Amino acid sequence: MSKNISLLKDIQILSRGLYLQIVFKVKLLDDAIIRSNEPEEVLSYHYETLGNRFIIPWRKFKGKFRRLVMEQQRNFGIGTDCALKDKLCMRCPACFLFGGTGETSKAKVNYNLLSRVLGETLISIGEMKDISSYTANAVDEEDLTTGQALMTILKVPAETKFLGILTLRDPTPEITKIIIDNLSRLTRLGASTREWGRCKTDIFGYRLEDRETLSAYDWANREVKDARLAPIEALNLPKEIDICYAKINKALSSMLPPKG
Ligand SMILES: [Zn+2]
Repeated sequence: MSKNISLLKDIQILSRGLYLQIVFKVKLLDDAIIRSNEPEEVLSYHYETLGNRFIIPWRKFKGKFRRLVMEQQRNFGIGTDCALKDKLCMRCPACFLFGGTGETSKAKVNYNLLSRVLGETLISIGEMKDISSYTANAVDEEDLTTGQALMTILKVPAETKFLGILTLRDPTPEITKIIIDNLSRLTRLGASTREWGRCKTDIFGYRLEDRETLSAYDWANREVKDARLAPIEALNLPKEIDICYAKINKALSSMLPPKG
């Protein structure tokens, strides 16, 4: 890692080829149940080299994570009219970070925003052991009868840990602070928090480079301490999260085309 590389001072439209990779772990505090016929956030997957693992697809994680950021900015009076999925405002810090398609947004603008938060599948650390799965009749929710469809039910044991790597394109201190802060706000997994359990997120550290050099696939089988990560404290991030949103919001209003 080059010593000369540091976070960028401001946000700009075009990419400048700097990547901050944040390595973290999500630990389930409760058992979780997977039903094969429902759109769950945690799934099982077989890798040739890693064996059987539980995984969390990135798009599921990203959706959850974006909601947290949107919730937080609204609390500071920013992006209060921005909502998933087809009511994106295309002007707020969350839209800037996670992206959006202008045409399908509420704003109907003629530009798209590319996501600056890039990710990959979260993979459980260590092979799945004692997999208790059984097949049951899927219950039809409308009439509560069991029909022909079969579903597989799988338990994801409490304390299952997932390795995640989030990549931030062209990071500034403010953007980074928002991401780090919200990683620690992720305390529940699941579309329905009643169904899914609590979780805890810990950050191992980061790499800041001109390319992406880390992947969860590579490190799900190795000791993360060998990954030569720098501690997050070394980034000297701003302390006040509301000021971070305000600063990005202000920069965006002069960067994006004026409201139609
Ligand atoms: Zn927005």
